[in-house]
Amino acid sequence: MRKLELHWQILLGMVVGVLFALAMVQFEWGPKLVSDWIKPFGNIFINSLKLIAVPLILASLIKGVSDLKDISKLSKMGGRTISIYVVSTVIAVSIGLTMVNIIKPGASISEDTRNELVANYSGDADSKIQQAQQQREAGPLQALEDLVPSNIFNAASDNGNMLQVIFFAIFFGIGLILIPEEKSAPVKKFFDGFNEVILKLIDLIMLAAPYGVFALLAALVVEAPSLDLFKALGWYAICIIIGLILMIGVYVSVVYIVTKRTPSFFISGISPAQLLAFSTSSSAATLPVTMERVEEHLGVEEEVTSFVLPIGATINMDGTSLYQAVAAVFIAQAFGMDLSFTAQLGIIATATLASIGSAAVPGAGMVMLVIVLAQAGIPEAGLALIFAVDRPLDMCRTVVNVTGDAAVSMIVAKSVGKLGDPKIRDWDDTYKMRNKNNA
Ligand code: ASP
Repeated sequence: MRKLELHWQILLGMVVGVLFALAMVQFEWGPKLVSDWIKPFGNIFINSLKLIAVPLILASLIKGVSDLKDISKLSKMGGRTISIYVVSTVIAVSIGLTMVNIIKPGASISEDTRNELVANYSGDADSKIQQAQQQREAGPLQALEDLVPSNIFNAASDNGNMLQVIFFAIFFGIGLILIPEEKSAPVKKFFDGFNEVILKLIDLIMLAAPYGVFALLAALVVEAPSLDLFKALGWYAICIIIGLILMIGVYVSVVYIVTKRTPSFFISGISPAQLLAFSTSSSAATLPVTMERVEEHLGVEEEVTSFVLPIGATINMDGTSLYQAVAAVFIAQAFGMDLSFTAQLGIIATATLASIGSAAVPGAGMVMLVIVLAQAGIPEAGLALIFAVDRPLDMCRTVVNVTGDAAVSMIVAKSVGKLGDPKIRDWDDTYKMRNKNNA
């Protein structure tokens, strides 16, 4: 029998997970059974992905930077990466603002629904507002200060400190470039081998992906709030989803124009990472798979992926920024506020910065939304309005966050002459097996 390609297997896992959960909620004991016996496997799957994120960044970035052999190449690539990331985020926010101003989803919320939503979710919203408090009190240079860890082991012990680990890896890589070749060679060899081991671990974890996403989606469905509230927020959700689809359209078009790689090549290469992003709502958890797919299936060389993707996973969140723009204006509309053109321009700036500051974990975009609301003078209590549908929208925006990182890495790779043909490792039995079955 022809073996299904990985993305179909994952998709199948997702669909069966949703159907299974829908069947389970018909029984009184069903949701508990899913929470007790199925959900833990989803958590194990996410944990195993997170487990390899820090070692992967360390090994691949140290190797990638030292392979560049020249610091000026690093600064050229760094400059391009950051500029393209900022431009793509501004485009995303602008698409979001255009959609929400055309569709005006907030205008369709009745006062009763608004009060009901605020009453139901104000507790949850308060906890997000409190989480954002610390960030709001920070000085203007706090983010820069936080970039440099005082202890690498402390930094590496918390997945939330990804940028500090990235900083250390780049710094270490620069040190490797600057010492004589005969001294650096064994260190590079070590990280090279280490990196291969991690890539192999990703392959192994991906064998469990269809079962992992089955468990994750089944748990999400049994825990989802009632459908009625979803309906009230339908236009708001549609507005974000259309915006996100347009953003994917922007990526495939720009990738095609710049690299001549077709949309189907790009999407089929990256789709397993997109499906994982959807199932886990975390760009950080998806990072190992994104790196593997971009390198082996989209043909971007490791020097570029190891640099562009970990940075992208932490700072480039186009889906999140688009969502923050739509959510802010939606809440303003629902409270009957008229946002001036200048206020909306302000949202472009704050949503861009807020998305950069959002952690690559589920729900982080909503915490930083508090800051966008505060800057625009929109009541923070409005967060309660959008709480009910945040998780499904988080799943969708994470897909765009990951796709954006992949697209930018192709564009950067092309610009520095590091885009080649896909190179599936020939020693890899996992792929050999898959290829033979698909032949
Ligand atoms: N879940 C998103 C991510 O990991 C962040 C967010 O928008 O909440 O990319």
